[in-house]
Amino acid sequence: MAKENQFVEQIADIDADFPQWYTDVVLKTKLVDYGPVKGTMVIRPYGYAIWENIQKEMDKRFKAQGVENAYFPLLIPMSFFTKEAEHVEGFAPEIAVVTVAGGEPLAEPLAIRPTSETIIGTMYSKWIQSYRDLPLKINQWCNVMRWEKTTRPFLRTSEFLWQEGHTVHATAEEAEEETQKMLEIYKEFAENCLAIPVITGKKTEKEKFAGAVATYGMEAMMHDGKSLQAGTSHYLGQNFASAFDIQFLDKDGTHKTAYTSSWGVSTRLIGAIIMTHGDSRGLVLPPVVAPVQCVIVPIAAKKAGVSEACAKLRDELEQAGVRVKLDDSENSPGWKFNEWEMKGVPVRIELGPRDLEAGKILCARRDTLEKSEMALSGAADGIRALLQTVQKDMLEAARKRRDGRIVYAKDMDEILAGVENGNFVKAGWCGCRECEDKIKEKTAASARVYAEGETAETCAVCGKKAKHMIIYARAY
Ligand code: ZN
Repeated sequence: MAKENQFVEQIADIDADFPQWYTDVVLKTKLVDYGPVKGTMVIRPYGYAIWENIQKEMDKRFKAQGVENAYFPLLIPMSFFTKEAEHVEGFAPEIAVVTVAGGEPLAEPLAIRPTSETIIGTMYSKWIQSYRDLPLKINQWCNVMRWEKTTRPFLRTSEFLWQEGHTVHATAEEAEEETQKMLEIYKEFAENCLAIPVITGKKTEKEKFAGAVATYGMEAMMHDGKSLQAGTSHYLGQNFASAFDIQFLDKDGTHKTAYTSSWGVSTRLIGAIIMTHGDSRGLVLPPVVAPVQCVIVPIAAKKAGVSEACAKLRDELEQAGVRVKLDDSENSPGWKFNEWEMKGVPVRIELGPRDLEAGKILCARRDTLEKSEMALSGAADGIRALLQTVQKDMLEAARKRRDGRIVYAKDMDEILAGVENGNFVKAGWCGCRECEDKIKEKTAASARVYAEGETAETCAVCGKKAKHMIIYARAY
């Protein structure tokens, strides 16, 4: 028994010490390791495979919107940043700078990109001449660097992977529409691929992207009730187009300044998956992005026909497009159950001599831990259907958990009590920065997004008439 529980015992209790649980899970399931430089992480094959599945799903959606992929340089002349005042102010504290190269001091220091609006804007100003060149929609998959003193794998690291989309349009309406459309795509992706329910909405001035006219975010509730910003879409107006001289000759023969948008999601999404679905046994991965969707564990593998039947089933599942792994290692079945449960594999199949005789397999779902029997013949269809059910049920379960933890607060005490108890808190806001700052100071919660379409009577802080309803939460 001690051996069977070996993995479970190594993970901290999810409710007693969630941060330690998180660290244990990401390390022990081999998603990541710490890099030698503080603030850096190594994404190991099991973690990178999740990222590849995220990329694959997302890239499809971008291309369906007419977005093309390209790649821009890692190094950006520092002078580019000073062209957009708010942008440089916002990013200055996080920028890592190269000052020496080839053994000599550089004439101009070079920033390692924290985001690429400046360099992409510079190139766009060369490429765009007339209205015929618009809209221009380019995305890049890359790494960025924003200096951090602490390391929280997938959540807060100096270097991380992401995609950044940058679009240029002839009119404000078009650019705004694009900003909204990408936010919708992110939401659909989060819900249907990651099984993470998200709340989307506009951010306050304080929380918006440095240099944006408006930022829209999608917020997901983690196991501890804190919010994770899982993606953002920015309407940049003419701020960057003016700074980087993105002009076009319009149909009416006049030169006009364009409008731009940018939008991104990062490897933080992996952190969101872990903290939305994980349980006391470890990871619970949604089938769409799980590196291994189904693991086959032979029982009494040396008995006649078992290993052959397992191999045959693996081949059938593979042919049916299921990402399947046959664990024919020397470890005991109990050890394997724990290992694959901890790694969050959505479905486990057990197949032994008795099952073989009865023409059945035993399927165990990772999300609900329920077991059911299935006919061995034609199991591939059954497993595919089961994976779809798991995917759907995971979203619904996460939605239920979240919806039960959104509360309304009428004053500061209720906001504090709400976030202390791990909730998202809706409260009225007058719209002034002082009230927003006061909430942050007293409760450590920040305004996540406007609760779109909802209204409140009074501001929870000053008691004046509320202009908006805000969703407050402590955040990663
Ligand atoms: Zn107020």
